[in-house]
Formats: sequence, C-alpha cells, structure tokens
Amino acid sequence: MPQSVQVANRIGDVIPQDQPIIVTIDGPAGTGKSTVANAVAKRLGLDVLDTGAMYRAATAIALDDNIDLDDVDAIVERVADADLHFDWNRDPPAILAWLKPLNERIRSEDVSAVVSRISAIGPLRAHMVRKQRLIAQQHPRLVSEGRDQGSVVFPQATVKFYLDADPTIRARRRASQLADVGTKVTEQEMLQRILKRDHLDSTRADGPLVCPKDAIVVDTTAMNFDGVVDTLVMHVNTHAGI
Ligand code: C5P
Repeated sequence: MPQSVQVANRIGDVIPQDQPIIVTIDGPAGTGKSTVANAVAKRLGLDVLDTGAMYRAATAIALDDNIDLDDVDAIVERVADADLHFDWNRDPPAILAWLKPLNERIRSEDVSAVVSRISAIGPLRAHMVRKQRLIAQQHPRLVSEGRDQGSVVFPQATVKFYLDADPTIRARRRASQLADVGTKVTEQEMLQRILKRDHLDSTRADGPLVCPKDAIVVDTTAMNFDGVVDTLVMHVNTHAGI
C-alpha cells in the first residue's frame, strides 16, 4: 500500500468528526497553496476556503463593471452588493457573485494582473475578513488558504503553515499550469509577474503577506506534491493533539 494511503487512513481515524479545527496555509503566489489545501482538506475530511478566489472575484467585478480602480468606495459598495459566497456542493467550492459562478472568470490574466492592487484596499479587506470569519463559523472544520489567514483572520488557528518555494520554481510551475490550459507565458515573464505580485502583497499596509511567527514553514522547492501534502497532514495530526 502506498505510504500516503496509510497516512490518510491513520489520520482519518484519529481526528474526531465533531472537533472544530482551523488549518491556515499562507504563502506567496505559485507555491501550490490551493491544490495542496484541497488535498489536505480531503485527506482530513475538512472543508476548504480559497480566499484568493474572493479577492479575484472582487477584481473581476470591478473590471467587468468598468469601475475606476482608484474609486475605492465604488469597488467596496459593488462587491458588498454582489454578496460573494461559495457553492459548497461543488468540489472545490465555487465562488458566486449575484448567485452566478465566477470560477473561470477569476482565473483570467486581466484579473491576475490587477488583483494585488485591488487586494490592498483596506475597507475591502475588512469586508473579506468578516466574511471569512463568518464562513469559519458555518464551517468550523476548515483549511483556509491565502496571504493573511494565520496572521490576521484566524490568529488562533489550530495549525498554521507558510508554504514557500524558490521564485524560479514557482514561475516554472505557474507557466506550466497555464500551458496546460492553452495559455503561453514564458517562465521569465511569469517570474516578473510573480515577483511583482509578491512585492505588492507583502508591502501593503493591511493584511500583508507575512509568515506568522507560529507558522510551520514548508519550503516546497525540492518537494513533490504528495510529499507536501503528507507533510502538512502529519503536522496537523501532531498539532491537533491527538
Ligand atoms: O491565491 P491567489 O493567487 O489566487 O490570490 C490572488 C491574489 O489575491 C493575491 O496575489 C493577493 O493579492 C490576494 N489575496 C490576498 N489575501 C488573501 C488571499 C489572496 O490579498 N487572503
């Protein structure tokens, strides 16, 4: 039997189904947080929250409504009106605005290009943080991934992770993911985009990308996907105190 299956069975057996648990995964762009978060959540029987999808949805709304990206009040008002929430019956959960799924739209290049600028809007972050905490009340067994989940949104999380990787490796992974869906971007171009996004995300005043003091840092540069997932699952098991 493969090692990962043994670990999964052992973990699945030991975390009681009614025990609330918040696992946060933060880190820069291209570390594979979303796919890792989905896999860890599945292995542990937890729900998964992609907070990047919320900021991407806000960005798509601003772009599609032709709102001036400097008009903070108009953006916040329109995003609040959209009543962003997730369809939890989809796997992974799908983000909805005005009840309409935005999953494909939020992955577009024009959204990626300005999402960090929109994410720096303080009142928008306050709105998202409130929503994310509300989601955690409704889904108390949760893996939540983003930039500020362990530092700002869930400072009392059961286990906090910070995923990192060499920027050139992150750029290679992202370029390859895009190539898989027919979008051609060179690794060099992707590296520039990733570094720009990291810089904006880590230098903003509200909810910057930081490694929480009490986070477990996992450098995925030389790790494969299963290895990363196994590592996180093992730490959650240990920290859940069982
Ligand atoms: O994780 P993903 O790459 O989809 O996130 C897109 C952008 O959303 C990030 O570059 C960041 O600007 C913003 N974000 C954020 N806070 C989060 C999650 C994402 O500011 N918790």
